[in-house]
Amino acid sequence: MSRLMIIGCGGVASVAIHKCCQNSDVFSEIMIASRTVAKCDALKEKLQPVTKTKITTAQIDADDTEALTALIREYAPDAVLNVALPYQDLTIMDACLAAGVDYIDTANYEAEDTNDPEWRAVYEERCKRLGFSAYFDYSWQWAYQDKYEKAGLTALLGTGFDPGVTSVFAAYAKKHYFDEIHTIDILDCNGGDHGYPFATNFNPEINLREVSAPGSYLENGKWVEIPAMSIKREYEFEGVGKKDMYLLHHEEIEALGRNMPEVKRIRFFMTFGQSYLTHMKCLENVGMLSTTPIDYEGRQIVPIQFLKALLPDPASLGPRTVGKTNIVCIFTGIKDGKERSVYIYNVCDHQECYKEVESQAISYTTGVPAMIGAMLVVNGQWKKPGVFTTDEFDPDPYMDALNKWGLPWKVVENPVLVD
Ligand code: NDP
Repeated sequence: MSRLMIIGCGGVASVAIHKCCQNSDVFSEIMIASRTVAKCDALKEKLQPVTKTKITTAQIDADDTEALTALIREYAPDAVLNVALPYQDLTIMDACLAAGVDYIDTANYEAEDTNDPEWRAVYEERCKRLGFSAYFDYSWQWAYQDKYEKAGLTALLGTGFDPGVTSVFAAYAKKHYFDEIHTIDILDCNGGDHGYPFATNFNPEINLREVSAPGSYLENGKWVEIPAMSIKREYEFEGVGKKDMYLLHHEEIEALGRNMPEVKRIRFFMTFGQSYLTHMKCLENVGMLSTTPIDYEGRQIVPIQFLKALLPDPASLGPRTVGKTNIVCIFTGIKDGKERSVYIYNVCDHQECYKEVESQAISYTTGVPAMIGAMLVVNGQWKKPGVFTTDEFDPDPYMDALNKWGLPWKVVENPVLVD
């Protein structure tokens, strides 16, 4: 029996909240606290009649650490699940420290204003030192290690699907299938079709920033950075078929590289259709992906935020999206002196997700692991003082929970490898 505060009430949050309400033996009480309280109230109205979990709602601006600390103290949850935006990670981590509760999120910190000179100085130093230029990285949150450790609190970072489940797959492969892992390829395939010429499956601002950035991967402990979308491969995905996929920078590469230094190469690929890429390139070329405010008729407008207002709300894609996602990790290495390769994956059907929780599979595959991460922290199985990613705990209870809560996985030996 525990009490969870959930911050944010968007696409991912909605799934995590549905799942907490299905799991009322663990989550006897939840608070949904977000910027627009009407969304929290609407979800409460829908779910309260069908769950034993007691739901409370509140309005909060999570950028305001003081107000958030006060709300956390007043509600006194066992943990806070941050499913707002990566921009709020640090303010929410600060509030959790001040109020003395555990912290869980699904995406690492990213600065909202990338022109802020203070942030830029740290960013540029990091680009030079580490060799990758993505706007997001773990350094900001890993810097809380000592504070969380001293306070006896757990911060569980990145418990979505990727990052999240993918890193649990890596820990599981290491525990059960390998003496030594040599390579990890993470393949994120969305074979869904929403029928729009262009839309993003989760927050457009965060999504478009991620996919328009240079790609990078780790090889022999060093980052190799490449121009955006310049490494392309084709792969046959069960339940989806053959798809083009492109090498991207992704946050679990950084965490796995630090925590499994014996792995010689870690790469991440995501599938994109030609139409998506053409739209994105065009929007980028005309400046619509920029985060720098421009003056429009006397008003400051951030182009990518204006674009977000034009694009379909990811939460509205659920009823119209058909097809499946298939997210895969391919491991190669050595077991008992022999070479081995293993493929661990989950296939998720957009329409099945919609039938269950009225969301498409991208929100579903993130919201379910968010609930699972929160459950393992509050029930003590994944509780230890400090700041951790999902590859740093025993993977077995998480893997069991994936099967139980809607994301069953399979392991296949000798898969087709990516060259
Ligand atoms: P949405 O934009 O749908 O939802 C974000 C929610 O956060 C909205 O309810 C929004 O409020 C709220 N919010 C934003 N700013 C604040 C603030 N200052 N204070 C309080 N609430 C705020 O995003 P998604 O649900 O698509 O994504 C949620 C998170 O999940 C993101 O961090 C994203 O990066 C992550 N993610 C992780 C994945 C993974 O596999 N690990 C995959 C996909 C997403 P309002 O309703 O007012 O707009």
